[in-house]
Amino acid sequence: MNLTPVKTPKLVSKLFPNYVWSIETDKKDLYLTFDDGPTPEITSWVLDTLKTFNAKATFFCIGKNIEGNPELFQRILEEGHLVGNHTQNHVNGWKTKTPEYMENVLKTENVLASHVPNFKVQQKLFRPPYGQIKPQQGSRILELGYKIIMWDVLSFDWDASVSEQECLNNVISKSKPGSIIVFHDSVKASLNMKYALLLTLEYFSKEGYEFKPLSF
Ligand SMILES: [Zn+2]
Repeated sequence: MNLTPVKTPKLVSKLFPNYVWSIETDKKDLYLTFDDGPTPEITSWVLDTLKTFNAKATFFCIGKNIEGNPELFQRILEEGHLVGNHTQNHVNGWKTKTPEYMENVLKTENVLASHVPNFKVQQKLFRPPYGQIKPQQGSRILELGYKIIMWDVLSFDWDASVSEQECLNNVISKSKPGSIIVFHDSVKASLNMKYALLLTLEYFSKEGYEFKPLSF
């Protein structure tokens, strides 16, 4: 049984009002996000697919994956997508002491600063791995000038007990104007993600939606 809901309950988002859960808009805009890359093969497939639909997205990258795949990372930027900090090696905030957590976040900030040409002028974005972060860690990250990006729609693409069709249904049934949708450009999630992403792009494009990067 899965305890994490597909749709973030209003109560949870109200408890953490300083975090971004969705974008307030009446326009048919959706915000696709991809966590855990860049990953060879998978991220290039995502980029090719987004391009076909003229869709833009935001990639929450793991610092060590940026260092391991700098060209792939550059391709994300060159194709007009945004990037954010997802820690250096996917640390769980609940299981990590705050000084250690912050060190990990800052390490990735340095990696981003050295790989993103205009890093200083773009809004700094952070997403906590597993969505698990202590309030104290959240405050410290906000103090560094980040926006902390959560979500209102989880695809469950990484979950092997979720079928491709269920993953797609999660996204199609829960998304509304301004939704922030979580996918993963990781090997683990690729089977469900590839299926659901393609059909999500097809479905919402036909409905007149546009896919945008998270800009503030
Ligand atoms: Zn992650």
